[in-house]
Amino acid sequence: MTNLQDQLHRPLRDLRISVTDRCNFRCQYCMPAEVFGPDYAFLPSDKILSFEEIERLVKIFVSLGVKKVRITGGEPLLRRDLPKLIERIHRIAGVEDIALTTNGTLLKKYANELARAGLSRVAVSLDSLNEERFFEMNGHRGKVKTVLEGIEKAAEAGLQVKINMVVQKGKNEQDIVSMAEFFKEKQHILRFIEYMDVGNSNGWRLDDVVSKKEIIDQVHQFSPLHPVDPNYKGEVATRYQYEDAQGEIGVISSVTDSFCSTCSRARISAEGTLYTCLFATEGMNLRELLRSGKDDETITQSISNVWENRKDRYSDERNEQTMKKRKNSKIEMSHIGG
Ligand code: SAM
Ligand code: SF4
Ligand code: SF4
Repeated sequence: MTNLQDQLHRPLRDLRISVTDRCNFRCQYCMPAEVFGPDYAFLPSDKILSFEEIERLVKIFVSLGVKKVRITGGEPLLRRDLPKLIERIHRIAGVEDIALTTNGTLLKKYANELARAGLSRVAVSLDSLNEERFFEMNGHRGKVKTVLEGIEKAAEAGLQVKINMVVQKGKNEQDIVSMAEFFKEKQHILRFIEYMDVGNSNGWRLDDVVSKKEIIDQVHQFSPLHPVDPNYKGEVATRYQYEDAQGEIGVISSVTDSFCSTCSRARISAEGTLYTCLFATEGMNLRELLRSGKDDETITQSISNVWENRKDRYSDERNEQTMKKRKNSKIEMSHIGG
């Protein structure tokens, strides 16, 4: 295995692949309906990587150190025949783990097929158990009931299930404890995600973030917690176990307690652009490389060069910036670029 490292000595271990830019939800914090309306130009199918192309790239990334693959989107289950892609990735020697992040609406339909294809884990996004608030947050598209049925079906199919809840001030912070209680009972790990300033359209403000500390305090009041070590280096969520030993929760604190120093993730967008950070503004066009007849060795070298030059630490920089601004008693935080 290669010892590829970036400029901050971080290896390449995880690959996140977006298989579509489309979604059946319009979560305000991700794809607000005002921006992603009926006239929005989503990618035409010939601009999206094919399963053959994705498979070829995964093999190359594995040769550079990748062990875990996560399929995401948009809503990945909208991509036709997704289980066939999982099957292809599952056959690649060196891939130790395949996960899927989904809004859960189509999980009931696909859970068994996905498990049979070799998917190990699924992260299901659910921001509230309250139908009204959930409907509001997902842009009036989906029901809690449907997502819960998907979660149930995934667990029955033998998939490891985790739940992701983005917490946004004034929207769903009142649901922190009810979500913790519900999923403690169901014995699924719930991960709270601090609301982030991804993309250009969600109108992010620091004031809308509910911090890791506030979240933990609330859950601790409901049922005492203690922190536990990460399962592996680079795990994005900080783990907390319930003191009565009935399960655990996680918090993904990109805003108030960033974790760039252990970030080993590369991302490929649906149109085949390689990004080395969630907040990157530029990436490398892998689709062009693949379609211009370049051999594997050339593509491997190009990816390797990108990783070796990687310096991204956006969230850490933003935190440093915030601290500085706080010192200067300024309230608003500016976007500091990828
Ligand atoms: N559609 C799928 C879903 O919702 O799970 C997969 C794609 S979605 C972009 C992946 C994850 O990013 C979801 O858990 C979602 O809640 C989270 N996410 C999207 N926008 C976010 C934001 N502004 N802050 C924090 N998390 C966000
Ligand atoms: Fe769609 Fe997921 Fe974004 Fe919500 S978070 S709009 S479900 S891609
Ligand atoms: Fe990784 Fe970029 Fe997130 Fe830092 S900000 S953890 S480098 S994706």
